[in-house]
Amino acid sequence: MYPVIFVSLGPGEPELITLKGLKALQTADCIFCPETQTKAGQCSSRAADILLRLDIPSDSILRFALPMSKLREKAWEAYNQVYAEAASRCKDGQRVCIVAEGDAGFCSSIHYIYEKLRADGIPVEHIAGIPAFIAAGARGGLHVASQEERLIVIPGTTTAEEIEKLINEKSAIVIMKLSQCTDEVHRCIRLHPEYSYHYFENVGTPDEQYISDPQQIETIRFPYFSLLIIRKDSF
Ligand code: SAH
Repeated sequence: MYPVIFVSLGPGEPELITLKGLKALQTADCIFCPETQTKAGQCSSRAADILLRLDIPSDSILRFALPMSKLREKAWEAYNQVYAEAASRCKDGQRVCIVAEGDAGFCSSIHYIYEKLRADGIPVEHIAGIPAFIAAGARGGLHVASQEERLIVIPGTTTAEEIEKLINEKSAIVIMKLSQCTDEVHRCIRLHPEYSYHYFENVGTPDEQYISDPQQIETIRFPYFSLLIIRKDSF
């Protein structure tokens, strides 16, 4: 039995996948790939866009709908179906991959399927990938965490006061899922214009944006694929 391989695709730019990940995709019989429905009713899948740009044959790509609602029941249902299908194909001797953007084990709910397969004694493997915040740091030419500095990653649930506290403790901060804390980030910019703010949107795609002017960041309603790195440059 081949292991079910969780392939990390990197943040969006196809060349930012690892060689190991690419080889696993090229030899796969089937690749499970999440897609989401936009408010306008269309399907979009950044993961599928990456696969197609890597010349992975579209007939090996099995898209599944991943509801993005805050109520996670629907997502768990979708994951349970992928789990059952992946387990059955694996037992039939197929080479099965499951993909995720960035790193598949970093803020990635698809890891739920990995844990479920492992608990059932089905062999699994996770191929590491470049998370979006590392690609963002490179894009902005940043030293994301230097020397004694700590790096704290926050999943979009934060306040201006918490940011202030962490910065005072000499931490650099990465805020993911930024759309969940737009108002608090805007408030923090007004309270602390002296921090350095690095805003990234759609890193590694044609719509990429990098903005480091706090006044400009304060006017943006952050989309889902955005993150912010906050530092205090001279401690
Ligand atoms: N597994 C991913 C993280 C998924 S959580 C990783 O390793 O990076 C989803 C969050 O990641 C988004 O809300 C956003 O904050 C961030 N993100 C993912 N891709 C991004 C991109 N291309 N540009 C900016 N932020 C991105």
